[in-house]
Amino acid sequence: MTLDFNKTNGLIPVIIQDTFSLKVLMLGYMNEEAYQKTVSEKKVTFFSRSRNELWTKGQTSGNYLNVVEILPDCDNDTLLITVVPEGPTCHTGNESCFNSSTYKGFLYQLEQIIDEKISGDDPTSYTNQLYKRGINKVAQKVGEEAVELVIEAKDNDDKLFKNEAADLLYHFLILLKAKNIKLQDIEAILKNRNQGDSVK
Ligand code: AMP
Ligand code: ZN
Ligand code: ZN
Ligand code: ZN
Repeated sequence: MTLDFNKTNGLIPVIIQDTFSLKVLMLGYMNEEAYQKTVSEKKVTFFSRSRNELWTKGQTSGNYLNVVEILPDCDNDTLLITVVPEGPTCHTGNESCFNSSTYKGFLYQLEQIIDEKISGDDPTSYTNQLYKRGINKVAQKVGEEAVELVIEAKDNDDKLFKNEAADLLYHFLILLKAKNIKLQDIEAILKNRNQGDSVK
């Protein structure tokens, strides 16, 4: 990959994205030296336009951005870097410099898709038909999928285990919908429980 630093006065814009949440965390600029340092140290180093020097994000706060993947855009004059952040990325203490409450990850997209299937009237839709059989049936399915997952957990076949995990997650979302509860409510509870690590 040859990055085109000349086109933009030696600095290219770099979008920083959380590899798990997919949140856009911040935008910074890199000159060639900052880019090389980022590649070799696997922690994001920008060129600070205000201080006119290299700036390794986290150098005073400790909130480093650990590089997962570096993706140039179509004409090599912009970078998207996916990272695992070591702490809040914004100096205000926010997770992201772009403070949004409407970010949607994959599970939320799935929740939306299930919503659409359920509000439609497609007789060939498994989701639609299951939902119509009522909450007890949906809950029973969740129980069945959970048992199937437990059975596969004892086996060595990861493929079957993963499939049952997907089944359980999918039916869990249908059950939430049947209960008229949002995935966001569950996420909030887990977040309040110290990142989900105080499950009793
Ligand atoms: P850090 O790189 O996290 O040690 O922060 C060093 C300094 O850079 C801070 O005191 C802020 O002035 C600035 N800074 C840190 N994070 C950001 C950010 N996401 N956007 C803009 N400025 C930042
Ligand atoms: Zn471009
Ligand atoms: Zn910020
Ligand atoms: Zn299953």
